[in-house]
Amino acid sequence: MITLVIGREKTPSDWDTSKPFPSRLSVKVSLNGGPYRLLDKPNADQMYFGKPGSVPPTVSREQCRITVEDTKEIFLENISKSGSPIFINGVPAMSHMLRSTDEVALGKDHFRLDVYGVVKEVCKSLVYDTSQIKKIYEDYENENLRTQIRNGRFNAMQRLSMVFTIGSGALVAVFSMMGKEGPNIVLFRNICMILAGVFLLATAIISIVKAGSDPLKQKERKARFEESYRCPNPMCNKSLGAKSYKSLIMDGECPFCKCHLEEVDGSTPVL
Ligand SMILES: [Zn+2]
Repeated sequence: MITLVIGREKTPSDWDTSKPFPSRLSVKVSLNGGPYRLLDKPNADQMYFGKPGSVPPTVSREQCRITVEDTKEIFLENISKSGSPIFINGVPAMSHMLRSTDEVALGKDHFRLDVYGVVKEVCKSLVYDTSQIKKIYEDYENENLRTQIRNGRFNAMQRLSMVFTIGSGALVAVFSMMGKEGPNIVLFRNICMILAGVFLLATAIISIVKAGSDPLKQKERKARFEESYRCPNPMCNKSLGAKSYKSLIMDGECPFCKCHLEEVDGSTPVL
């Protein structure tokens, strides 16, 4: 979730009042009220839109708060302390869940605000931390690896039962050809046949259990992974399942929205 506080740029205290009004649109960006990071100005807390003088003085310095949910839903609230109004499709409103067709205007002079344009620009300018999706990817890979190891062990068991079956038969054949068939050879052959039978039975039981549950589990695991391994930009939020984490970091951007992706060590404030 990203929160934006939108208003009029603060007028510098030393502003020459004989000149045109200086204000542009100011946008403060934060994640749940916490830290953020902008792509072009890593330590900046604010972005500006429009030319100086483009925002009328009737718009409050902190006029509205826009919350972009991870589901792409956009919620708008009027937070003006001076009571400056907000109009949604020409009607005053204190809070509103936005639709893409809604027209938003700020202040008594009805300053038109392109909410979706601003949100898209802000989202493009943010550096998104990939730590979360890294963990999701690694967990998925490790689980796949564990499955491969389990399958390897199972295949080895199957081979062992074959070794016992073929080996005992071959040895008994060799001994009988040499005319040395006796009670010891028969005992040895019987032990080999029992062992082969045990392994055969064990692998058969595992095969039945695996056939019933493994493909289903794998499918569920993949679906869960694709559901959670998503672009951290809420305006994109597309599944990145087709891309490995390594290639994602090498590209440094989402293949869909081109937002900037970076792995952060935890010391840098970032979204
Ligand atoms: Zn994206």
